[in-house]
Amino acid sequence: MAWDFETDPEFQTKLDWIEAFMREEVEPLSHLGMAVHGSLGREKFIRPLQQKVKDQGLWACHLGPELGGQGFGQVKLALMNEKLGRNGLAPTVFGCQAPDSGNAEIIAHYGTEAQKTRWLWPLLNGDIRSAFSMSEPTGGSDPLTFKTRAVLDGDEWVINGEKWFSTNARYSKVLVLYAVTDPDAKDPYRRTSIFLVPTDTPGVEIIRNVAVGGGGEIGGGNEGYVRYTDVRLPYDALLGERGAAFIIAQVRLGGGRVHHAMRTVGACKNALDLMCRRAVSRTTRDGRLADLQMVQEQIADSWIQLEMFRLLVLRTAWLIDKHKDYQKVRKDIAAIKVAMPKVYHDIATKAAHLHGALGVSNEMPFMHMVTSSLVMGIADGPTEVHKVTVAKQVLKDYRPDNDLFPGYHIPRLREEAEKRYAKELGELREAYAARGGRRDAAKAEAV
Ligand SMILES: Cc1cc2nc3c(=O)[nH]c(=O)nc-3n(C[C@H](O)[C@H](O)[C@H](O)COP(=O)(O)OP(=O)(O)OC[C@H]3O[C@@H](n4cnc5c(N)ncnc54)[C@H](O)[C@@H]3O)c2cc1C
Repeated sequence: MAWDFETDPEFQTKLDWIEAFMREEVEPLSHLGMAVHGSLGREKFIRPLQQKVKDQGLWACHLGPELGGQGFGQVKLALMNEKLGRNGLAPTVFGCQAPDSGNAEIIAHYGTEAQKTRWLWPLLNGDIRSAFSMSEPTGGSDPLTFKTRAVLDGDEWVINGEKWFSTNARYSKVLVLYAVTDPDAKDPYRRTSIFLVPTDTPGVEIIRNVAVGGGGEIGGGNEGYVRYTDVRLPYDALLGERGAAFIIAQVRLGGGRVHHAMRTVGACKNALDLMCRRAVSRTTRDGRLADLQMVQEQIADSWIQLEMFRLLVLRTAWLIDKHKDYQKVRKDIAAIKVAMPKVYHDIATKAAHLHGALGVSNEMPFMHMVTSSLVMGIADGPTEVHKVTVAKQVLKDYRPDNDLFPGYHIPRLREEAEKRYAKELGELREAYAARGGRRDAAKAEAV
């Protein structure tokens, strides 16, 4: 028996350190807003915290020791990410922020030594930032529809196309770009390749920086609308094999989705904590909000939903550690990707509602949470696509019943059972008949 819901005491001390560090150092900084995000602000505020995380041996824990990480495995990462999920600044402080974490992972897996020297080590060290430039403005859910082309001209690639929502492109030194290199390949999944494009290459242009959510200035966001016009790159800007973009992306997206889900557990827990604090603090003429049954129902539903989601995430993490292959855990990863926006949306919406007008104001975090929950249902592929993955994986273990009535039709099951136990039923019938009473005769008849 190896089912165990307890954390090793040794790792618990690390979690306790993270808990205190989050509360005392990361959360206060996050209230300084943009002051911490510029290059000087990062040096002043974030660097010292990153150093403390490194000193604790908790830097970039999603990576193996050969890359400066801890090789913790996914279950420990899940427990750690739950704490980081409470605050948007935390992944940067702990060296595991998207999209850099996933980009570093694929460069580590597939990069040449020269690519690692130029991009991987500075990324892992937090010295540079990167962007993932895959989705296109004509539609992101189906990568087979992407049109950005890379054509060989002598020993140089020439790239043309547009990409949409390349997060952090404006801050990046390198763009991890998807482009069609082999449009005629028989297998449509072998038509696209990945390139490492220095952001300052001539022909790379950020048309606009789109922001998530309502309000604010047009053009002031972090989601790059990027145009590539006759961008020329040497042949070795290719990452991994030509035509291998889909295979490489699975490494990146599999891990990324799990880590988002782990952090979402923390974000949901935060929303629930705030909801409970309000419920025990605010009073009406009937007493505290917490004493009203409909409020209690909202809190109970939220707690149950969160605990179910948390267990699903932890079990998925455990499966990844066990199989060490994202492909074998596809169904579970897709399932948590589907559950994540719904659980977060439901809990964040209830928390906002319970705070009344204050809850929907910009003086509380709830509207940001609700928007984030909507983003989670879209980024890394929409919910519908992941539901299809879950259903296909579930269905692949089933075979059709070809008879008119299915194999589980009760008359048929009864007939089979009677055949199987014919001898025992005969003995029972005789035993009732031998007892001779009126009720025994009826029982013998029924048998
Ligand atoms: C905050 C944020 C950050 C992002 N960061 C990045 C990034 O760094 N790099 C990057 O490349 N991309 C990024 N994306 C883009 C993201 O991957 C795409 O938005 C996503 O794949 C969906 O593509 P789309 O927006 O074009 O929607 P569409 O493909 O137009 O889909 C819109 C809707 O149509 C429906 N739909 C689509 N396909 C199906 C289907 N097969 N079955 C049923 N319904 C369907 C769904 O309801 C879906 O939500 C980011 C997105 C967001 C919101």
